[in-house]
Amino acid sequence: MSKELSSELPLPDSDFYRIVDCLDDAERAKLREVRAFMEASVAPVINHYWASDSFPFELLPGIRDLGIAGVGYEGYGCPGGRTLLSGFIAMEIARVDCSFATFYGVHSGLAMGSILLCGSEEQKAKWLPPMARLEKIGSFGLTEPEVGSGASGGLTTTARKEGDNWILNGQKKWIGNATWGDLTIIWARDLADNQVKGFIVENNTPGFKAEKIENKMALKVVQNALITLTDCIVPEQNRLQMDSSFRDTARVLRMTRAFVAWEAVGCMMGAYEHALAYAQRRQQFGKPIAKFQLVQDLLVKMLGNITACQCMVVQLSQLQDGGKLKDEHASLAKSFCTVKMREAVGYAREIMGANGILLDHHVARFVADSEAIYSYEGTREMNTLIVGKAITGFGAFV
Ligand SMILES: Cc1cc2nc3c(=O)[nH]c(=O)nc-3n(C[C@H](O)[C@H](O)[C@H](O)COP(=O)(O)OP(=O)(O)OC[C@H]3O[C@@H](n4cnc5c(N)ncnc54)[C@H](O)[C@@H]3O)c2cc1C
Repeated sequence: MSKELSSELPLPDSDFYRIVDCLDDAERAKLREVRAFMEASVAPVINHYWASDSFPFELLPGIRDLGIAGVGYEGYGCPGGRTLLSGFIAMEIARVDCSFATFYGVHSGLAMGSILLCGSEEQKAKWLPPMARLEKIGSFGLTEPEVGSGASGGLTTTARKEGDNWILNGQKKWIGNATWGDLTIIWARDLADNQVKGFIVENNTPGFKAEKIENKMALKVVQNALITLTDCIVPEQNRLQMDSSFRDTARVLRMTRAFVAWEAVGCMMGAYEHALAYAQRRQQFGKPIAKFQLVQDLLVKMLGNITACQCMVVQLSQLQDGGKLKDEHASLAKSFCTVKMREAVGYAREIMGANGILLDHHVARFVADSEAIYSYEGTREMNTLIVGKAITGFGAFV
């Protein structure tokens, strides 16, 4: 048998510099568990769910058994451990499916992270344990129909205090998990002091309505909602007690932007591995297309993007674990890795020719999903402006 058809060909492996060696044995074992679950349970069914815009609820028990909600958070029923491991987990999930990584990121990062960073002891003790067990699913409501990048100064959703309660009014758009989850962190402007405050709103509260956003062309498995709050009454005990302005919201975003950078790396890894396996198999002009120099060029460019970004996010998480992470660190990684991801998944699609746009070959899903990852948690422009301000000393947002 010729080498082209034999099993001697190297298996696609997107961890070229062995970043996994940064983890200890127990962390690597956890990562292997995540990979096994994603490959055995999610990969075979995900295209069906993607095509039908639906969420695979039957996979929730499997995710629950992995015990990965709240990795990196100490106490309150969370698994603890290093932020570095939570990054690897995000990457590993996204390597198979970016919608699943987004579902996990919204719940474990944005929603649980808001409570961890901005909640009182009582709030953390009440909400985090059931969220770590995935008995309660969380969402994060910051963006509005007319306010995206300008959320820091422009939120129009209002909060008015009346006795021991707050009355919330306004709309939130794009809110992941909110059509079926249990609670949403709603960020609203306090009419009394004009500051942004966070509220834990249970989704069955009267005056809270979540409608599914239809016709998305990316992350179709994630159920995004348009939330309308109409005189929605939330008790003072559900206002995040350690949060007093948008600066606190930004602390959450700093953490989760780092997480999105890891997701972007996972997205390119998945696309690269599919494209490489395809190039080793697909024959044109009587040879596997992997034998052509121009095809190898695309594969190596992809691997370069992946490897550079992997090294970046490993150090990013090490800064975070050392308590040295700044907004600009997370923003540089989010913008750089998502740019490199978008380029890399485009090369993967190119290598696969027409089959690159067929869902059956998976790469089309990574290409489409990368578009949403590129824009959420701060667009490239906004994250660039955060870094620009840090390095020049001049804010250039407006
Ligand atoms: C699939 C998906 C899931 C999401 N999930 C959530 C969620 O769970 N919770 C949540 O709160 N939000 C969520 N979002 C919203 C997301 O965070 C916003 O889409 C993002 O912040 C950008 O806002 P926008 O789409 O309104 O774009 P806009 O702010 O309208 O920006 C449009 C364009 O103008 C550019 N721009 C804006 N201001 C400037 C400036 N000063 N200088 C230069 N360029 C500028 C932007 O970079 C962008 O290219 C999600 C979005 C998507 C697509």
